Amino acid sequence: MTSPETPVREAGQDFIRDIVTADRDAGRVGEIVTRFPPEPNGYLHIGHAKSICLNFGVAQEFGGRCNLRFDDTNPTKEEQEYIDAIERDVAWLGFDWGGKAVHASDYFEQLYAWAVDLIRAGKAYVDDQSQEEMRAARGTLTEPGTDSPFRSRSVEENLDLFARMRAGEFPNGARVLRARIDMASGNINLRDPVLYRILHAVHPRTGTAWCIYPSYDFAHGQSDAIEGVTHSLCTLEFADHRPLYDWLIENLPVPSRPRQYEFARLNLTYTLLSKRVLTELVRGGHVDGWDDPRMPTIAGLRRRGVPPEAIRDFIGRIGVARADSLVDIAMFEASIREILNRSAPRRMAVLRPLRVVIENYPEGEGETLEAVNNPEDPEAGTRTIRFTRELYVEREDFMEVPEKKFYRLFPGNEVRLRYGYFVTCREAVKDDAGEVVELRCTYDPATRGGESPPDGRKVKATLHWVSAADAVPAEVRLINPLFTDPEPAPGNFAASLNPAAREVLTGCMLEPAAVAGNDAAPIQFERLGYFSRDRDSQPGAPVFNRVVGLRDSYARQAARGNG
Ligand code: ATP
Ligand code: MG
Repeated sequence: MTSPETPVREAGQDFIRDIVTADRDAGRVGEIVTRFPPEPNGYLHIGHAKSICLNFGVAQEFGGRCNLRFDDTNPTKEEQEYIDAIERDVAWLGFDWGGKAVHASDYFEQLYAWAVDLIRAGKAYVDDQSQEEMRAARGTLTEPGTDSPFRSRSVEENLDLFARMRAGEFPNGARVLRARIDMASGNINLRDPVLYRILHAVHPRTGTAWCIYPSYDFAHGQSDAIEGVTHSLCTLEFADHRPLYDWLIENLPVPSRPRQYEFARLNLTYTLLSKRVLTELVRGGHVDGWDDPRMPTIAGLRRRGVPPEAIRDFIGRIGVARADSLVDIAMFEASIREILNRSAPRRMAVLRPLRVVIENYPEGEGETLEAVNNPEDPEAGTRTIRFTRELYVEREDFMEVPEKKFYRLFPGNEVRLRYGYFVTCREAVKDDAGEVVELRCTYDPATRGGESPPDGRKVKATLHWVSAADAVPAEVRLINPLFTDPEPAPGNFAASLNPAAREVLTGCMLEPAAVAGNDAAPIQFERLGYFSRDRDSQPGAPVFNRVVGLRDSYARQAARGNG
């Protein structure tokens, strides 16, 4: 299904870095300048992280700089909330844009002046055709377009109309400014592309100062040139725009000559990386907002507990290439696990508790045992946990009639309780409905700390547990794939939304140290996965999200044939 983009190259190298290296070595560029240019019409997703890591990464590695530039040319879709969220997310990912973000709107006055220059040079004209007329006259991939009847307007008339467009004399859609290039060009982007359109809308930054706005194509390259961007890195869908990008740079008195290079977008299985789809998920109430932990947004991943290092690690592993590919989300999960395995303290938690009574343990008593915080990190030290007569174990660690190869709790079987004791299950107590509600067990006092007994007896299972008297109840949300289909159709995404993308478990039991710190730093619940405190937590009522399980859940998913 997938292969990471694995070019046969030195680690950390790719075709973009090769180009930059060659430009630098040949003296074609001085300081390397890149930019990350989001449109503030939604939150960033993990696909954007690829572009962020590439643009900021290249600038860092080559001792240059990278701007965070908002491509804010469409006020009907853009909001301050998105601008703030994007800044927060890029900073959280670990990148620095030198203190002040820039905006295409910073250049509106200059862009306007350049549009006037084009008109003066006979290279742009005001077109009165409707959108439909223009679309019909554009031609197709095999047929040339036809010239607009307004294409030969005089410079004076164009200057006058464009000034009046700016002054607000005309309603939305009444006129546009177009480049005069070639209606028969093999590249449809060169068939007199729209440079300015009329939009009477309040802009998040410029308010009502403007009622005409530059198109993406007219704003982008010129903004790059103003900022001295040397390498304008964008995704493949802009490759067909490059001739227009170059035409504008050549035909305008811009202060620098940036070059555009395209790379493949990130696509991930079981995920849709499209702001349009993500916006619909939010607006349609399919999720609880942009930072819902089920979302592939940076904000959602952060809330779920994914560390920024894991995102950077993943992006580094998939590399950058020109060929489109679909990356297995299991690769992303592997990066998360690898980072958290090193850093996350271990705690014990029981998600679906089953009560255990240790019959030969004195009532009302208890003892303190020592548990290792992180076997991967000796510096993390130890903590204490309580052992008492009543404990909780995981319901699925008991079977009344054991299946083949089930070595955990069943009547007559002995297991190790991690850091605790060896215990033997004597009997399962059932309620009237026949459901097991309690296990009666005995323990071997000679196995304190979970040590093997002097007689050398062995057990085949080690279980996690918590002391009932000490346990802290919590809600735990298991975050599963958002879609059931590895390649959901963007046009019909609702059909493959996973109804079990969030499984909410209440009455989970945690050892107290799991909630000792007050932060959301992920911890490992032993044998279960990595979990992080959610902001829905209330005093005395913690809520956790599962960041990721301990093993590849997608492989299991596929085997089970459901979400
Ligand atoms: P979407 O397709 O999700 O709506 P977009 O391309 O419209 O995204 P922008 O805000 O314009 O969103 O994107 C900012 C930058 O991020 C662009 O340079 C774009 O090429 C890049 N980008 C967007 N999606 C991806 C992706 N999946 N992989 C890599 N880069 C991406
Ligand atoms: Mg875009």
